Amino acid sequence: MTFPDYCANCGGPVVLPPATPTLAHTTNLPGMWRYAGRLPVTSDTAWLSMGEGGTPVVPAAAAAEWCGVERLMLKLDHLNPSGSFKDRATAVGVAQAVRQRARAVVCASSGNAAGSTAAYAARAGLPAVVLTPEAVPPGKAAIARAHGATVLRVRGDYSNTFRAARELADRFGWINLTTTYVNPVAVAGLKSAGYELADQLGDTPDWIVVPIGAGPLVHGIVTAYRELRDSGEVAALPRILGVQAEGCAPIADAFARDATEVVPWPEVRTRISAISDPLRGYPADGTYTLRLVRESNGVMATVSDTAAGEAVDQLAHREGLLIESGAAADLVAVRTQRARGTIGPDETVVCVLTGNGAKTLSAEAGPDDPVVADADEAIDHLGALPETAEGMTV
Ligand SMILES: *Cc1c(COP(=O)(O)O)cnc(C)c1O
Repeated sequence: MTFPDYCANCGGPVVLPPATPTLAHTTNLPGMWRYAGRLPVTSDTAWLSMGEGGTPVVPAAAAAEWCGVERLMLKLDHLNPSGSFKDRATAVGVAQAVRQRARAVVCASSGNAAGSTAAYAARAGLPAVVLTPEAVPPGKAAIARAHGATVLRVRGDYSNTFRAARELADRFGWINLTTTYVNPVAVAGLKSAGYELADQLGDTPDWIVVPIGAGPLVHGIVTAYRELRDSGEVAALPRILGVQAEGCAPIADAFARDATEVVPWPEVRTRISAISDPLRGYPADGTYTLRLVRESNGVMATVSDTAAGEAVDQLAHREGLLIESGAAADLVAVRTQRARGTIGPDETVVCVLTGNGAKTLSAEAGPDDPVVADADEAIDHLGALPETAEGMTV
């Protein structure tokens, strides 16, 4: 099964036609395989599953307060087996590679797709070649290597890795698991995030907040909700708040200019690597995503590296959630759009937390932490003892 790169009619990326979901299409397999009947997978590759999908949605009072909204829910997609939502696409893409008896898989990745591809390829017994930008977070490259993938850094930014992966896939017939829109089968796996949200939330939230590189996750969520609306299973569609980094925001920039076409971003100036895709060579991917956001009556927002760092700290300190900057950026966007009045005071907001912060911790905590001999010295260091939380007995 090979797909053309772009649609001959509309010029946009090729995506699979919507499924017609029925309740008969839910299975009792765990995680996203519950929706196997609505995804391009068959039960003969269900053994590949490591429990991807089925991630919880939790309320977040402290984060809501920080954002200035009444009701904020967090979809904990960083709890996927390899620590990011990419597993939803990779599991389906590797299942396809197994069915096609592919010799190897390849992907371009800013880090999370690398670890995901490496893990699922290992489980399937397939060699994996992973191409990352030069500035890949070292922990993310290490994870891919730990699973036995061959990791190569490509000079320059993400778009160069994208081209290299495509050329290798073309030349050797490897399955390309790059998580832009290049692999429509893998991309369809991302619909599972939308099916789950619909099942978990009941009423459609006013807003779903999604960090965006090229936008396949937006495609997945929007397509799932459309399918469910068309079959009468949900009444309303959510609005999408798409989030990009200020230093690499080709889609948000086109949105702000009221443009219908996305143009490539000239120079990446952000350390929020998970969402920094300049779309050089494939701006039509961004144009398609922009259209989805607009059709949802949604908006695009940008966040600074500094503000994303604050959101990382908020989630870690006050919600107990270790989330990477590209995903914590969601909260910054909620805060600014609430301040502007785009998000109403009593609207329901769901942030998709796409990636685990453990992979990008830059400093090891250990060496700077004080060393003490015993409890007395520990008490000296603590100074004033932390107050016991109200209602707690010790
Ligand atoms: C890949 C990635 C994104 C961007 O998702 P796309 O669907 O490729 O736009 C967002 N957050 C994290 C943590 C990612 O790894």
